[in-house]
Amino acid sequence: MPDVSVLKCRKCGALDAGPRLLCPNCRSRALEAAQVEGKGTLLSWTIIRRAPAKMKALAPYAVCVVDLEAGVRVTGRLQAVDAALRPGARVRCAALEGGVAIFSAEA
Ligand SMILES: [Zn+2]
Repeated sequence: MPDVSVLKCRKCGALDAGPRLLCPNCRSRALEAAQVEGKGTLLSWTIIRRAPAKMKALAPYAVCVVDLEAGVRVTGRLQAVDAALRPGARVRCAALEGGVAIFSAEA
C-alpha cells in the first residue's frame, strides 16, 4: 500500500492535504512534505462523466474524499465504483497516479 503525500507543519505538527503556503492551524510557513499511511474512511465521492480535456481519457472516473487514519482529509480517485460502496466504507490507497492517490475498498 503506497503512502499518501501530505503537508506537515514543523511548528505545530498539523497535517494538511495542501497545496498551501500557511499552516491552517497556526499560520506558520514551516510546511514540509510528509508521507502518511493510505488507510482511512470514505467520506464521499462523485463520478465525473464529462471530464476536462486533460482527464478525458480517464472518464468516467470517481473523485473521492477520504479521512485518513493519520488525521488528515485528502482527495483522490476511486479505483472502481461498486454499487455496494457507502460513505463510511474502509478504503486504502491502492496506487498513486501522477501524485494522485487511487483508493480501493478494503477487502
Ligand atoms: Zn502549524
